[in-house]
Amino acid sequence: MRDPRLGLIPQATPEEERDFLDVLRGSPIEIRIGADVADSQDVRCAVERGADLCKRLFDTVQIYGPASWIEAANQRLGEVRDVHSTPTGKPIVIALGSSGGNAHVGFSGWRAAVSLDRPAPIGAGRIGALLAGPMIAAEAFKTAFASRDPRIVRRPYSLDALTYGTKNVEGPTNIPHLTLDLLLAGGGSIGFGIVDALVNVDGQLSGEVEILDNGHLEDRNIYKYAWLPTSVARANGAKVEILKSRIHATFVDLNVVPNPCPIAKASLTSRDSIIVSLDDLAARRKAQELLPRILINAAIDGTTIEIAHLLFGESGCLYCYYLDTPQEDYNVIASMTGLPLDRVVELYANNLPLERCDIETLKAVPALAELDVASFEGQPLRSLIARWPYGEATMHTESGGNVMLAAPFVSSMAGTLALIELIKAEIPELEIYRLRESLRFDMLGVFDPVQIMRVQRRDECGICNSQPRLKYHKSKWASV
Ligand SMILES: [Zn+2]
Repeated sequence: MRDPRLGLIPQATPEEERDFLDVLRGSPIEIRIGADVADSQDVRCAVERGADLCKRLFDTVQIYGPASWIEAANQRLGEVRDVHSTPTGKPIVIALGSSGGNAHVGFSGWRAAVSLDRPAPIGAGRIGALLAGPMIAAEAFKTAFASRDPRIVRRPYSLDALTYGTKNVEGPTNIPHLTLDLLLAGGGSIGFGIVDALVNVDGQLSGEVEILDNGHLEDRNIYKYAWLPTSVARANGAKVEILKSRIHATFVDLNVVPNPCPIAKASLTSRDSIIVSLDDLAARRKAQELLPRILINAAIDGTTIEIAHLLFGESGCLYCYYLDTPQEDYNVIASMTGLPLDRVVELYANNLPLERCDIETLKAVPALAELDVASFEGQPLRSLIARWPYGEATMHTESGGNVMLAAPFVSSMAGTLALIELIKAEIPELEIYRLRESLRFDMLGVFDPVQIMRVQRRDECGICNSQPRLKYHKSKWASV
């Protein structure tokens, strides 16, 4: 069977693919914690999330350090994926605190940093710790594949989620009590990243979160979704129910409303804030039409993250922001799936579930033979297609081909940054630091504030040029 960490369609020679897989199988990842920081709960949060993301890709991941929680954390890594292989390569060591390693990850306040030749300082700050989690996994990945892809940049860098490096300010280290009224539109890999960050916010949260997604989990999700244990993925439950039980297990005050509908058909309550991690224009239009006070978009393209905070009436709205994005190439999807073009358009545009007759067509496609196609009945076509381009690092090979590798730290970071933007918008004193632009960050590289761009309002957009909508939005949120 084809290794699920590889893209579905081979685009390189079998030897080249084996070479990349050998790195994932043979390189032990060691996360080493110095005695100076081992007792910190923030360090624990960063390390547990980072190790979890590493374990989705690498067969051998182990945490070392002088703290009592480490044994249980290592045990939990066994539940991510049950792997029996013997590492043969040199360990890749990611260090926190005063310990040696190939890369050092530190954090403090709202900022996390990577250093290569000396320990990166660690101070109090749960938000910084949340950023450090996916950065630990990204550094392990970059170190493992640095010699195989020239786009990988290994340099010290820092990511400050309060100002994104434009100002030097210390944010509050304690998150005040927040009352959420949030719609989470999309429960895929980014949605799991958002919830994984949410349950690790060390603060008091109450209110309501509605989660919208009509997909079910399947085995392959364990390679791309933060936190998801194999046993839970195998039960093939609805994503919204799994996310709900995870939040309820942590936050008793936060009420979760699962909404297992395609967004085109869902009836949605008007809410204060929306985080969108859905990738079709119709869904974005519908989310924007709800005219929430806070609207954050989280997207990934290969290993690049894009986070946008859309300020209705000021910057471009979520709909005009994406007007330039090429529409889905339905012809390509039709030829990949064997489905008639008009059926692809119908399924895709409305995010409708696949029916029995569609599944019969899919079963006849040789390239899909390795997938459990039957398990996609009742799921959106997008869930199947998403196996190709999303959340995968495209690694260039010597023969000019590409090896596509799952890159779970990318969607985890997208979800983490989207949640942090929401928290900033919910704390009145931090209002001024709201991202008023769109931010891009290729996780094979290093973060750079230059990657922040203004979201332009578009003349042809029918939503943010609508006077009634502008007026309604203004009067609705004026008092907040
Ligand atoms: Zn607009």
